Amino acid sequence: MAVPLAATVLLARGPGSAEVFVVRQAETLRFMGGFQAFPGGRVSPADDALTAVPRQCVAAVRELFEETGVLLARRADASFPADADLADSRRELLADSKAFPSLLDRLGLTIHSDDLTYAGSLVTPPFSSIRFDTAFYTADLPPGQIAVVEPGELDAGEWLSADAALCAWEQGRTLLSPPSVSLLETIRGRPVTELARNGRALFDALGAGAPERIYFSPQAQMIPLFCKGLPPTYYTNAFLVGQNPAYLIDPGPTDLYEQSRLFTLLDARLNAGAHMAGVLLTHHHPDHIGAADAIARRYGVPVLAHPWTARVLAGKVKVDQEIGDGATLDLGIAPHGGAWRLEAIHTPGHAPGHLCFYESTYRLLFVGDMASTMSSVVITPPEGDITEYLESLRRLRTRPARLLLPAHGSVSSRPQAVLDECVNHRRKREEQLVQALTAEPRRVTDLAQELYRGAPAEVMPYAEKQVLAGLLKLRREERAIEAGDEPEPMWRLTTLAESSPTDR
Ligand SMILES: [Zn+2]
Repeated sequence: MAVPLAATVLLARGPGSAEVFVVRQAETLRFMGGFQAFPGGRVSPADDALTAVPRQCVAAVRELFEETGVLLARRADASFPADADLADSRRELLADSKAFPSLLDRLGLTIHSDDLTYAGSLVTPPFSSIRFDTAFYTADLPPGQIAVVEPGELDAGEWLSADAALCAWEQGRTLLSPPSVSLLETIRGRPVTELARNGRALFDALGAGAPERIYFSPQAQMIPLFCKGLPPTYYTNAFLVGQNPAYLIDPGPTDLYEQSRLFTLLDARLNAGAHMAGVLLTHHHPDHIGAADAIARRYGVPVLAHPWTARVLAGKVKVDQEIGDGATLDLGIAPHGGAWRLEAIHTPGHAPGHLCFYESTYRLLFVGDMASTMSSVVITPPEGDITEYLESLRRLRTRPARLLLPAHGSVSSRPQAVLDECVNHRRKREEQLVQALTAEPRRVTDLAQELYRGAPAEVMPYAEKQVLAGLLKLRREERAIEAGDEPEPMWRLTTLAESSPTDR
């Protein structure tokens, strides 16, 4: 499937200005809520109507107008319209009551593509569930216009130098989208419009397949790597946290090409002054440990994991140091000063030795497979245990995390909501299970067919284990019991089932 086109504008406050208009996505947005970025959005079919200008250029102008009220279009005498003449048109556009081309027509305005300078394009990496091929432009604020954000999908906008925007981010006062970090670094200390010249190396390298520099938080680099897991999790996020020292969480790939991509990226970081102190494993599953030994050997660093994980990996990955709940890993000095560390939290449920890591300066919660932003978490007995899983989620919920960084899926700025969704999902599954057992005793395979109707065939064995995990929780609570011969006993509810709460 073709990746949808999009456009983004870095609007300079004026010719030669180092200040750029930065907008903030509303906190309530599910994807990238609360993150600062630049105005822009995807190309709409109506953008094709203005054939004299490239469609991404039209989208850039339209999105900029919708989001900031700034309109990069000129009258017949080449002058820009004044702010006061545009308010009504912006409202009509936002309300979808008038198409952009006809609106320009009515105002007697045309878009001049040389009012925007094309700097380069970036395609969202394939790990992301939402992908775009985005063209980046720079432009100057037309004289007589002001940029104002209309509350809605955005909740703030301000003029900032790249330096000010990056400093606020480094101090943990703001969130910046990963492409914005790279773009701001490129124009730091320079006029905004120099992006086209200074960004060339960045755009060229990424276009040629160089590993993306993905930072959702300072010095916490996200490294999505292809690792064959259960659908739809084909990527595992490794994270390199810290600088000197730095720890690498969950290097998953066994694939040699992916490993070499990881080496290239780590080599670059080490050449730039980073010092790797060790590999941290959240748990023992194959898509989290594939490159652990290779990294340990190549960089001469120890592998750290929970004692249970160390035991089960014996002969596969050599764990040099066992760490448990409350273990702290020193990260040296934080980017803006002060002690900096990672704390291990033992979170059994998905795996008995599962560890999450909490970083309290930027309030980052690295959750491994305890939560995912792209699918539900698989709990397969005997290693997986729903009662323990729910208790671990409750413990994670007590951390005042600002970002949740999962092994699968994108980072979320709604950690508590994501953790609550995990609990609610289990509650819903349990209700379905109790409901299915109400009429008559059932077998696990039969229950899985009903509860996971429509799931791909390769997922069904896991669905059956999920059902079993749910039944084992009910049995522990004396709400269900099995009878009959192994391996396919019949499960039925006990008299306790109806009177018990489902969230114990
Ligand atoms: Zn796992």
